[in-house]
Amino acid sequence: MRILIKNGELLLAEGEGFKAKRGSVVIGGKRIEKVVLDGEEVSGEFDKIIDAANKLVMPGLINAHTHAYMSIFKNFADDLEFFDWLHKVEEVEDKMSAEDCYWTSLLSIAEMIRTGTTCFVDMCMRSKVVSEAARKSGMRAFIGRGLVKEADDPEALRRLNEFLEDAEMNTDSDRVKFILAPHAPYSSPQSLLRLVRETGFKRNMMATIHMSESQAEVEGIAAEQDGKTPVEFVAETGLFDLPTIGAHLVKATDKDIEILKEKGVSVAINPRSNMKLGNGFAPVSKMLEAGVNVCLGTDGSGSNNTQNMFQEMNFASLVYKGDEKKAKCVDASEVVKFATINGAKALQMEGEIGEISEGALADIIVLDLEVPEFVPRNDLVSALCYSANGSEVVTTIVNGEVLMEDKKILTFNESEVFEKCTEIAERLGMNGLEK
Ligand SMILES: [Zn+2]
Repeated sequence: MRILIKNGELLLAEGEGFKAKRGSVVIGGKRIEKVVLDGEEVSGEFDKIIDAANKLVMPGLINAHTHAYMSIFKNFADDLEFFDWLHKVEEVEDKMSAEDCYWTSLLSIAEMIRTGTTCFVDMCMRSKVVSEAARKSGMRAFIGRGLVKEADDPEALRRLNEFLEDAEMNTDSDRVKFILAPHAPYSSPQSLLRLVRETGFKRNMMATIHMSESQAEVEGIAAEQDGKTPVEFVAETGLFDLPTIGAHLVKATDKDIEILKEKGVSVAINPRSNMKLGNGFAPVSKMLEAGVNVCLGTDGSGSNNTQNMFQEMNFASLVYKGDEKKAKCVDASEVVKFATINGAKALQMEGEIGEISEGALADIIVLDLEVPEFVPRNDLVSALCYSANGSEVVTTIVNGEVLMEDKKILTFNESEVFEKCTEIAERLGMNGLEK
């Protein structure tokens, strides 16, 4: 399939930031064949032509940390302290069937496609059905099964083995990959982290783990582990010898940041989730100064309550300025990098996704610029962070396949997903008035 996206404003990486230039993009198969700037000839035959006049053509966003199956937890356990929130969610979560998780994952994916995400990193309880949902939708995904308990615990081994079987089932997919996902320092003992490290080397897999998300976690680990921080606790096991994405790192110390930099650990910040759960703000400008690769995630809908990366970019551009009382600390262009190029780096896919360039995979979104948010076009990069809300996305393309066109999702029946998820929430007693 050859697709021409013509006459758009193309958001191209330039120097340390981005520049919008008028032009067209030729997609051949799953890759960007050519980026044609205005004035140059576009030649050849096309199966599909997308007119992008008055539209912005930019790399699809990379959601570096979420739990897609948690879509039905939005607006369910709000305004609770972190561990109260976790327990309330877990109670319902345990009652969800595999089929439930398939539909609820598709619901998150629908929201992601609608708001311009083309790739997500997931931590879930049922990697089989999440991979089925991702494959159905056409999204690019890195799927991890939350791993807990000591390495010799039968439950830990069952989860790991099922996860590895699910990974085997998907080796034919060039979009759905698997990532090892020990849950967190307070639920994944060091024996498990060592087993994960070993497995990662054997299977050539990356890892992702929650770390330093809350003060309670930091205090708990320090009390049990001789005053260590969660980062030190994980580092000791050698887990960071695998390419790793740490989620949250709200309470990272200066020494933690040194370890993260030295071991090349990428940090997925989740500002909305951190604010909602009252956990505070990651020391982002310190991480950037130290040269840590910072990317961006929504976290699950239970703690956000959306999968909308534009909202996340908006928060990321604002909250650290407020927290650090420094208006310059994280600028708009930096935040767009978090959601694109830095996400690609974190996933070892630099040059492949997160950018519009010749030879890269065609993960592209198209935004309508004829909306109040983008008028006047003083600075498109600023507008993405400070003015846009995600509803401007009209077309979403992954791996050269159009998943949404003119705001209609083409790869699955969205109404069916809404119906199923409403039924699930009703059955689990989640929605409406107090039962
Ligand atoms: Zn999470």
